[in-house]
This record gives sequence, C-alpha cells and structure tokens, in this order.
Amino acid sequence: MTKLQVPCFFLKWIGYNMAMNAMNITFPLGRSDVVSLLQHYKISPTRQRVEIAEFLFQCPQHLSAEKILDGVTNAGNRVSRATVYNTMGLFSAKGVVREVLIDRERVFYDSNPDVHQHLYNVDTGELTDVYDAEVDMVAEPKLPDGLRIIGTDIVYKVTSR
Ligand SMILES: [Zn+2]
Repeated sequence: MTKLQVPCFFLKWIGYNMAMNAMNITFPLGRSDVVSLLQHYKISPTRQRVEIAEFLFQCPQHLSAEKILDGVTNAGNRVSRATVYNTMGLFSAKGVVREVLIDRERVFYDSNPDVHQHLYNVDTGELTDVYDAEVDMVAEPKLPDGLRIIGTDIVYKVTSR
C-alpha cells in the first residue's frame, strides 16, 4: 500500500458503538447487556429489538438484513422482514452498528465496535476486517467552510490474482 500524502489525520475518533467498550461489555452479549446498550443509545428495548441485537452481538460479524432475519427466526423468534429492516435502520442511525455499503444490493451490518476498515471480495461476496494503522490515516480533503468530517468508511474491493 502506498503511503498517503500529508496532511493526514487519524480516524481513531471515528468509532461505532463506542459505548460497548466504555461499558466494558464483551462478546457474546447477554440479554441484560443488550438492554443496557440499547438504553444507552436511547432506544426503547422492545422484545424484537432485543432479540435482533442479541443475535447480532453474539460476536463481531458482518450480516445482511436477510441473514439477520434468518438467524433471529431460526432462534425461535417471530419477527417480520420489515421489523428487521426498520430496526437495523434505527441501530445504524443511532450508531449501535456500522452500516457497510458495498452497492445498492449489498449492505452489511457490522457489530465490531473497534476502529477498522474492510476488504470486500467480489468473487466470494465476503467482507473481512482490516486493521492497519496506515489505512486509518487518510489525506484530509479540503472542505467548504462550516463543514467537518464525522466519519470515513474505506472498503477495498478485491479479487483473486
Ligand atoms: Zn468490520
């Protein structure tokens, strides 16, 4: 990877679900952890939201809404597709999970709260984490007055050689 030119800034301050680390909650999250986490984000912990979050926060993972729907249903819960989509939209908007957009058809929800970037394998459709200090350092674009950066997502799209 080529080094990027200065000026650079570290993305350390950009994290998702920083409350999880701050509250010292670790994977897999139990029901009471999930409830505390949702309450921290001022999200009312309804039964379905708790069931969805419990499934998502078993481990750091990247899941599509369809996979979440399958997982929650297979765990014996009754939840509609619309509820899963609405809930994931809410969790993303509040910063509980990170939404990783590959294209219009592919959106992953990432439960990993650590600062990291992604590799998306176009052959396999798999999304994996990359931890690299150089990747976390990017050239700061010139911004119009009055604007500030609140987030940066880097997804490297890769294929087999
Ligand atoms: Zn990730």
